[in-house]
Amino acid sequence: MYKTINVMGYRISASKCLTICLGLTFIMGCFLASLPIQNEREALPKPIRHHISSRTLNKKRLAIIVPFRDRFEELLEFVPHMYKFLNKQNIPFHIFVVQQTDNNRFNRASLINVGFLFTERDYEYIAMHDVDLLPLNDNLKYDYPDIGPVHISSPQTHPKYHYETFIGGILLINREQFKLVKGMSNNYWGWGLEDDEFYVRLREAGLKVIRQNVTTGTQNTFKHVHDKTYRKRDMRKCFNQREVTRRRDRVTGLHDVAYTLQGTHSVTIEGLPLTVLGVKLLCDHSVTPWCQCPEPPKPKKTR
Ligand code: UDP
Ligand code: MN
Repeated sequence: MYKTINVMGYRISASKCLTICLGLTFIMGCFLASLPIQNEREALPKPIRHHISSRTLNKKRLAIIVPFRDRFEELLEFVPHMYKFLNKQNIPFHIFVVQQTDNNRFNRASLINVGFLFTERDYEYIAMHDVDLLPLNDNLKYDYPDIGPVHISSPQTHPKYHYETFIGGILLINREQFKLVKGMSNNYWGWGLEDDEFYVRLREAGLKVIRQNVTTGTQNTFKHVHDKTYRKRDMRKCFNQREVTRRRDRVTGLHDVAYTLQGTHSVTIEGLPLTVLGVKLLCDHSVTPWCQCPEPPKPKKTR
């Protein structure tokens, strides 16, 4: 005897029912297989990149080099701000965050040297760019610096530094100019003076630093996201650091920056792409012992 099943009021045999089910499963399978494959990445909204259009196609490419350690909140604000700011100018750029991963004191100049070496093949110019300094005035142009390095955060507009030879904060420089001066000194561990030494390198090479005329001033040209207690500057001086770092360094630079590249990471912030380089800087303690300053002895507890 065949078993019969009641399907929506029809009485059909169990074997017929099984055949129909298998047939329907096969047809559904064929239909799903014919659909275009869409992976999870494609399902996400497309990141807003800089526009490679006819207006940027023949332009020189800018690598934004951000020396970095422990400034995550600032980076979250920096990246979307720079995309918005530079897309208005049709600048083809990419952000490289050069993160110091060793346990030596921070060395901004050496990180910039590493960033330059990493990007020199594909980018015609770099911006050495503090992560906490956000340009607000659209008249500050990040175009290719052909005549001389362009100092964006001039002493007339920087919120904190106002001496005429100041070139820190944000500086645009092209590949040839940076190589001509042999990059930056590697002797500056801790905060300060590496930019002043770089100014002397430029001056001695006959490179004139160019600044743009803007009508805004020290209060409204940049946003400087820097609380001096929360982001304490490392001003310690130990061994003969003070004496050595006051002088022009004719020995070190791009050619001898000692490091290991621990990894490159493509990441996005709010869908905007950037590259993080993990860099372990190597310190020769016999040359620059101040890459680590001994902690001052703690005062003894008295009862
Ligand atoms: N910086 C960093 N971590 C540090 C110290 C400095 O990432 O511990 C980077 C960061 O890009 C910062 C830049 O170096 O904007 C300059 O340092 P800082 O802001 O302390 O100098 P300022 O110009 O405010 O005196
Ligand atoms: Mn700062």
